[in-house]
Amino acid sequence: MMLYDITRTISPRTAVWPGDAPYSVTMVARLEEGAPANLTTITLSPHTGSHTDAYFHVEPQGAYAAAMPLDAYLGRAKVVTVSRRDGALLPSDFGHVQLNGAERLLIHSHVSDLPDDVWPDEFPYLSVELIDWLADMGVRLVGLDSPSVDDFHSETLDAHHALARHGMVSLELLQLRDVPDGDYELIALPLKLDGACGSPVRAVLRPLSL
Ligand SMILES: [Zn+2]
Repeated sequence: MMLYDITRTISPRTAVWPGDAPYSVTMVARLEEGAPANLTTITLSPHTGSHTDAYFHVEPQGAYAAAMPLDAYLGRAKVVTVSRRDGALLPSDFGHVQLNGAERLLIHSHVSDLPDDVWPDEFPYLSVELIDWLADMGVRLVGLDSPSVDDFHSETLDAHHALARHGMVSLELLQLRDVPDGDYELIALPLKLDGACGSPVRAVLRPLSL
């Protein structure tokens, strides 16, 4: 089956938001030392690699990862490449796009060309105007290869709040390098993490045979 894996690899070298906890994996039992099994413990921020934010990330009463609406993360998606390298994406950046009923938009930028261990010093993000426009068209999920739906320096996180207001969900830090623009089925379910402000996802795309 043809499948595009659009997930970044999570390793101790994976770049994380400056100041956030890096991924670590430690051995707590080893076969080679006579244990019946290898056993590891992992530590990570839920925002490591390709992930979704839970509404709790920005809303005091917002849903934890475990309670995010699963059906938003599953179904018809359109992949669109943008040339804007940084700054807010606007509806005019997508004027040529026919969503044709796709309820999910995945935005492919230059950030997908960066290796997993490099933090982007510039990246495009979502304007509230774009989110409102997509909501009007019935879009339920917006995915980016950028590390945030907001400007890196934003203190108000307007795009995060706008997504929550519309009941839309997001994916951040996708890896879309080898994916041609077009229509797909997206599968990118969050883990059922109670109390967490987000979750890593394993994101894949299946080409649609239209
Ligand atoms: Zn995040």
